[in-house]
Amino acid sequence: MGKPDGFLKINRQTVPYSDPIVRLSDYNEFLVEVPETQLNDQGARCMDCGVPFCQSATGCPVDNLIPEWNDLVYKGRWREALDRLHKTNNFPEFTGRVCPAPCEGACVLGINNPPVTIKNIENAIIDRGFAKGWVVPEPPSQRTGKRVAVIGSGPAGLAAAQQLNRAGHSVTVYERDDRIGGLLMYGIPNMKLEKETVLRRLKQMEDEGVEFVTNAHVGVNVDIQELKAKNDVLLLASGATKPRDLPIPGRELNGVHFAMEFLRLNTKSLMDSNLQDGNFISAEGKDVIVIGGGDTGTDCIGTSLRHGCKSLVNFELLPKPPQDRAPDNPWPQWPRIHRSDYGHEEAEAKFGSDPREYCVLSKEFIGDDQGNLQGVKTVEVKWDKDDHGRFEMKEIEGTEKEWKAQLIFLAMGFLGPEETLVPQLGLETDGRSNFKAEFGKHATSVDGVFAAGDCRRGQSLIVWAIREGREAAREIDRYLMGSSNLP
Ligand SMILES: Cc1cc2nc3c(=O)[nH]c(=O)nc-3n(C[C@H](O)[C@H](O)[C@H](O)COP(=O)(O)OP(=O)(O)OC[C@H]3O[C@@H](n4cnc5c(N)ncnc54)[C@H](O)[C@@H]3O)c2cc1C
Ligand code: SF4
Repeated sequence: MGKPDGFLKINRQTVPYSDPIVRLSDYNEFLVEVPETQLNDQGARCMDCGVPFCQSATGCPVDNLIPEWNDLVYKGRWREALDRLHKTNNFPEFTGRVCPAPCEGACVLGINNPPVTIKNIENAIIDRGFAKGWVVPEPPSQRTGKRVAVIGSGPAGLAAAQQLNRAGHSVTVYERDDRIGGLLMYGIPNMKLEKETVLRRLKQMEDEGVEFVTNAHVGVNVDIQELKAKNDVLLLASGATKPRDLPIPGRELNGVHFAMEFLRLNTKSLMDSNLQDGNFISAEGKDVIVIGGGDTGTDCIGTSLRHGCKSLVNFELLPKPPQDRAPDNPWPQWPRIHRSDYGHEEAEAKFGSDPREYCVLSKEFIGDDQGNLQGVKTVEVKWDKDDHGRFEMKEIEGTEKEWKAQLIFLAMGFLGPEETLVPQLGLETDGRSNFKAEFGKHATSVDGVFAAGDCRRGQSLIVWAIREGREAAREIDRYLMGSSNLP
């Protein structure tokens, strides 16, 4: 284990973000570099518990070997830590930056002390790995002659592609967008995940032999039956990209957008022209309202602030979560507590208060006679339990309010994958319209067609997409070869 009394002597110290006002002036990543000794010390806080809940089912979804690399970082043995990390996670540079870190919620030290800074340590290991040139292409020593087409280039498709290619299969990834990466590229903004970080990993995969085809919308401009005939297996990793709408009066007004329209265009314009081409939705000088919380809502807040919006409000339908774990949410579960993410911190620094307004239901968008958005009417709601113990939402009379806004972003989650491929392949879907395939098996109802990531499990997290991609790869390898040595 690390330092036997490290957890008693050393306090938790996270890698800080840069000053919120300063970082609003650009789209650079906001994690500040810290001295190596801080990371060694934080690794020393790990108790190497007999049962490391952090890497078990309630903790890290990819089963990262957390106590092992905490100890190696404490001892300064970074190279070995990197090897341990890559055993379970193809892309620790993504999870190390943007994973919500369920591992830390399950850390045993967290029962009565602040948990180990697991996510920061993971990120430090992989960044050092790239900086030192330790992350190199690992092409297979021989090819099997089998061909796999992966549809969708998010973390699920990429993890599966890397694993399958390393097993010797010839893998081509088809992506309908003009850049590879899925939501790593066009969802999560640069300040959370700089695109160079995505590109350097794609370069490694290309050098290993994975082929990428962009502007290839399978089922639209690429024939799915032809693809099926040309390949031994298809892996669907097309994400849960259908956004939840808010069909209230005025939805058609100019100025009401889905969050992903805003975020995608912003990153594309940033990458194409450093925002010089004007091909994005500008929040400059506007009163902005973001409806919905979560990562997508926060990213809309952070991006609007960087444009220089005039004001910013974030509506949440649910009540404010408690500051500490509620009795029905014990350790090692993910703590459902009030958190402030980077966007909230930035809005507070810029405008003086937290932008979130809780228990707000939007009733009607208001426009002028040219069809331009001018605001939104809302009412406050309360949540009471009904006779069966289920929460019921009730509007509170007399709390109607009008808010000024020229831009509103809808960030209320996603409703599963788009339907294009379902009739073309004759695929079965589950009750939530996801592609039906058992977790851990990933085979769909069509022989030779597998599914992984958000298109199978519904909107989720990068770490779950990586886990699903790795599992699907192992099942595909087994399907093709009769057995598999893939981890
Ligand atoms: C704005 C935003 C911020 C987020 N922030 C975080 C975060 O901070 N941390 C975190 O853990 N998770 C975050 N998430 C969730 C996370 O990004 C997803 O869970 C994850 O990317 C899912 O991976 P995936 O590979 O299943 O799908 P995706 O990343 O959605 O990739 C699917 C890809 O398939 C492509 N595609 C779809 N249909 C076709 C077709 N027919 N032909 C070809 N290509 C197709 C799509 O264009 C897309 O590129 C965020 C999500 C959003 C929307
Ligand atoms: S991938 Fe996420 S859950 Fe796993 S160790 Fe890293 S931060 Fe924790």
